[in-house]
Amino acid sequence: MSMKLSEFVFHVVCEMNDAKFLFPVKFEEEKERLAHCLACSHYNTEKQTCGLCECYVPNKVKHLYEECPIEKWGRSIESWNDTYYNLFANKVIEKYPEAEVWKNQIN
Ligand code: SF4
Repeated sequence: MSMKLSEFVFHVVCEMNDAKFLFPVKFEEEKERLAHCLACSHYNTEKQTCGLCECYVPNKVKHLYEECPIEKWGRSIESWNDTYYNLFANKVIEKYPEAEVWKNQIN
């Protein structure tokens, strides 16, 4: 039985949803992001928030999906590749062994 790429992606997204955690970035990356914010003119030092998106910066810089609204730092494909991709792709393969072909092609 074969699986389309769109189905593989769907199952990876489902596994991520089921995991119910916040997908923290690697600690070094969190520190780099925070350094950008602390040096930024939009950073509110009293509230520790971003003046543009109003997010609480100590939390914002931790999450894989977060990004700076003026592109000083972005979403973390590096943390995704190094920390999460294999984890969730392997979960899909455990349930659907035919998905292995996609994991290997994408990697
Ligand atoms: S998220 Fe971007 S705009 Fe907001 S404080 Fe950090 S670096 Fe500045």
